[in-house]
Amino acid sequence: MRMTTSGNVHQLSFMPRLFPVNAYFVEEKDGLTLIDAALPYSAKGILAAAARIGKPIPRILLTHAHGDHIGALDALKTALPGAEVIVSARDARLLSGDKSLDPGEPQSPIRGSVPKPGAVRARPDTLLVDGDRVGSLLAVATPGHTPGSMSFLDTRTGALIAGDAFQVRGGMAVSGKVQPLFPFPAMATWSPAEALRSASRLLELKPTLLAVGHGRMLDDPCEAMTAAIQAAERSLQSESKGRASHVTANRP
Ligand SMILES: [Zn+2]
Repeated sequence: MRMTTSGNVHQLSFMPRLFPVNAYFVEEKDGLTLIDAALPYSAKGILAAAARIGKPIPRILLTHAHGDHIGALDALKTALPGAEVIVSARDARLLSGDKSLDPGEPQSPIRGSVPKPGAVRARPDTLLVDGDRVGSLLAVATPGHTPGSMSFLDTRTGALIAGDAFQVRGGMAVSGKVQPLFPFPAMATWSPAEALRSASRLLELKPTLLAVGHGRMLDDPCEAMTAAIQAAERSLQSESKGRASHVTANRP
């Protein structure tokens, strides 16, 4: 595990060379908000990192309910029974193994490693909706990668912890745009069109730092986010053109 610090934000990266999976600590007055819980074996490293910083972990906040973001949740909740578990109301359903869709949502299957019903023992204590606050963090609903994906903006500094709304590893991209060098976030994305809308919303926040689930932290990320959004727009457009010509070609 490698720890990198930028202001109030500490990135904990597991398997940084092979398949980087990140969790984050955001420093608050009362301790550390852990954002995401990485992989099942990551609990030890996360607890050791908090000990090294010298602060308690009063809360565990999840960007979304995929296996590589909730892996150590149960082990951490056992080690820290007082920690508040916080997730979006929408992805709390995924956390409980419910992959059903709501009527107004794009009706494509939820992808990626969603836990089987009953596989995660920890129950969320607090359910978030867009605009809620968690300490210094503003919760921003960024559906797309999963229906209930959330990003968190540190209102003190403009640092943005965005889960898998963007990827940095394998080339910066909006979730859903396939990057051949690291295609996994795209393969696990529910709705690339929703993800693109959410990415534009994040850019409007003008973050000063972008911290995502896979890849290193980026300072002054707006230019790179703009380019990634444009690339995702092009790829969605050419896909829908491809689909249209396919339909025409199949007409009798
Ligand atoms: Zn994910």
